Order: sequence, then C-alpha cells, then structure tokens
Amino acid sequence: MATPRLVPPITADSADLTSLRSEVREFLSHNRTGDAPTSVDSWLTGWDEDFTRRLAERGWLGMTVPVSYGGHGRGHLERFVVTEELLAAGAPVAAHWIADRQIVPSLLKYGTEDQKRHFLPRIAAGQCFFGIGMSEPDSGSDLASVRTSATRVDGGWSVTGTKVWTSGAHRADAFICLARTAPVDPADRHAGLSQFIVDLRADGVEIRPIRSMTGAHHFNEVHLDSVIIPDAMVFGTIGAGWTQVTSELAFERSGPERFLSTFQLLSECTDAMGTGELPADAEVGRYVARVTALHLMSSAVADALTRGEPADTAAAVVKVLGTTTEGDIADFADVSTGDDDPPDHLHALIDAAVAQRPGFTLRGGTNEILRGVIARGLGLR
Ligand SMILES: Cc1cc2nc3c(=O)[nH]c(=O)nc-3n(C[C@H](O)[C@H](O)[C@H](O)COP(=O)(O)OP(=O)(O)OC[C@H]3O[C@@H](n4cnc5c(N)ncnc54)[C@H](O)[C@@H]3O)c2cc1C
Repeated sequence: MATPRLVPPITADSADLTSLRSEVREFLSHNRTGDAPTSVDSWLTGWDEDFTRRLAERGWLGMTVPVSYGGHGRGHLERFVVTEELLAAGAPVAAHWIADRQIVPSLLKYGTEDQKRHFLPRIAAGQCFFGIGMSEPDSGSDLASVRTSATRVDGGWSVTGTKVWTSGAHRADAFICLARTAPVDPADRHAGLSQFIVDLRADGVEIRPIRSMTGAHHFNEVHLDSVIIPDAMVFGTIGAGWTQVTSELAFERSGPERFLSTFQLLSECTDAMGTGELPADAEVGRYVARVTALHLMSSAVADALTRGEPADTAAAVVKVLGTTTEGDIADFADVSTGDDDPPDHLHALIDAAVAQRPGFTLRGGTNEILRGVIARGLGLR
C-alpha cells in the first residue's frame, strides 16, 4: 500500500505573490495600530474594527469569496500571503478573523443562497463578525457529547444550552452553534448534530465574560435559553452537523495563525540580540528554521486547498508542529532574557506570550487529539 503523502508539494512564491507581499508590507508601514502586548496572538486578542475596515477597503477580506457575492474571487494562496504578512507584523485582525477564515468557506459550501447573499458581502466589507459556538462546559474535545439541544417549533428551531470559551462573542454579530437535534445513537455518536446561525443579540441569548488570568476579556460563556432560530438560519443539513464541522477543519487548522502567534516576539528578540540589548544566543536560529519550515508546510496546504484537494491530515501536522513552536518561542524568550532586564516593549511581549501560551495547543483541537487524527490519516490506527 502506498504511504499517504503527509504534506502536499511545496512551491515557491510566484512573482505575483511576492508583489502582493510587498503591497501588504507597504500598507502596514502606514497603518500600524495596536500596542506591543496585542502583537502576541493578535488574531485572537487584537480586535480593531477600524483596522478591519481599512483592510476591507484594500480588498483583503473575503479574498476567496466570488465577486458575485461581494468578494474578490482570489485564491487561497493569495489570502495566505496577506494573512501571513498581517500576522507576522502582529496586526490587530481578531475582529474579522473567524468570519474570514472559516465562516466564508463554510458558507460557500453549505450556506443557502439567501445566507450567502446576506453574509458574504458583509464579511468582505468588514461589517459582520462571527464567533464559533462549539465547546461546552463538559464538551470540548469530544463534541459528540454537546448538550445544547434544538427542538422543532413552528417555522424554526428552539435552541437551549450553554457554550463556553467563545472568543469574541461579546463583540461578534453571530456564531454558528453546534446543537443536538436527535438523541445520541450509541452506534453513531456523531449523528443527530446540526448547525445553526445564531444572532448573538437575539432574545434569550446571554453573554457572560470569562476573564483570563491577565484580566483580559476575549472569552465568554454564552447561554441560550429557548432562542428561536428561523428555518432560514439552519446551517446546512439537519443531522449533518458533524460532517459539516469536520469537513472545514483544514481551513481552521493549517493557516499561518498556527505558527505566527509569537512571531513578533521572535523578531524583537533577534533584533535585541543584534543591537546588544540582549546577549546573543545561537539558539534563536533553531526557531527561525522551524518557522521557515512551517511557512513552507502551511503554504503547501493553502496550495492544496486552492486545487480543491483534501488536506486534513497535513493541516493537523501544521497545527501540532506550529503551535508547539509558538509556545517554545515564548519559553525561549522568557528563559533567554533570564536575569537581564529586557527593554520595556520586549518585556511586555514576553509577558503576553507566556500568559497566552497555554491556549496555543488547546484551541481548535488539542495536540493530543490531533496526533490521533494524524495517526488515522496515515493509516496507523
Ligand atoms: C484560546 C482559546 C480560544 C478558544 N476559542 C473557542 C471558541 O471561540 N469557540 C469554541 O467553541 N471553543 C473555543 N475554545 C475551546 C477549545 O476548542 C477547547 O478548549 C478544546 O477543544 C479542548 O476542549 P476542553 O477545553 O473541553 O478540554 P478537554 O476536551 O476536556 O481535554 C482536556 C485534556 O484531555 C485531553 N484529552 C481529551 N480527550 C482525549 C483523548 N481522546 N485522547 C487523549 N487526550 C485527550 C486533551 O488533549 C486535553 O489536554 C478555545 C480555547 C482556547 C484555549
């Protein structure tokens, strides 16, 4: 039996992509916002709607959305180049991140014509923000155990339950909620799940902040108490929720946000070593090499997605290796500054990276779960 190829073939940036990179760098040189701490994990913590709208004006949101739905009809590799440059610069992209990264491909695949016409132009214009409503207090890795339930009512569904760790729910317009629409079938635990587009300002929705240990607020608990979802906001097919969720995972797991969350920190450390503000440490080269390899792997997945090829296993590999690297960079910076007194901006970046570090390998599927996905993808389990 032929061994499945783990990572799709790697190709270098074309001249067009190189020129697009330069455009984004030029834009960033005139449009930098935010401060040092938000430059760590900026795709989760850097919520700046004004910046998002400026990106939309440049045509850098909804890049893969067809022109007929208000987007720009460009490829995944072009989007990859833009997002990679934004993240490498620590730009505040959290407001539109979820919508642009995974709601767009999900809507294109499963949305009704009305849903596409309603949401896609708004997402591309930076006017509509989404969250993810999957995790629950007793259900994270094992989503088959979600207890949020939806029952049929006249003209729609009534949804009741509690979602947790919902990034940005207090600012987003809507989230896609995974709920049980049929009792658990022990022979097929993933059957009977469905997805709904929930307006986060609707009656019956209560959003409670969860503050992280730094005092920052980006997580929430979202309580849904008999929230009425009209039939028009059923997402995809009733009962096919699991298939829908898993079919879009390559988009969620393979992007540059899975290895660049601490890139600003790596860059600042390297600069500080160059100027003598920090003692030089050859170890930094290992992290530069790891990030370079991840760039190649992640862009290869974007290329595969452009060709419409499945890339779930490769995406899981990028996420495991990438998020481990992000955390290792935080540790490296923390340890290598040691007893030295780093410059203030570097100090702030290190504190932010160390505080955010535990989340890197948890969100979007933990590394333990992903190793199982990789093993299955390779036919080993
Ligand atoms: C920064 C951040 C942002 C997030 N944003 C969102 C969001 O916007 N929306 C949302 O829905 N969720 C969000 N999450 C939640 C995230 O998806 C879950 O934390 C994750 O899926 C793990 O679930 P859990 O926390 O319930 O841990 P559990 O599933 O309880 O796992 C606990 C530990 O047990 C291990 N484990 C569990 N099952 C197995 C197994 N079968 N084999 C081996 N080990 C196992 C896990 O790897 C983990 O180490 C976010 C999380 C973080 C950290």
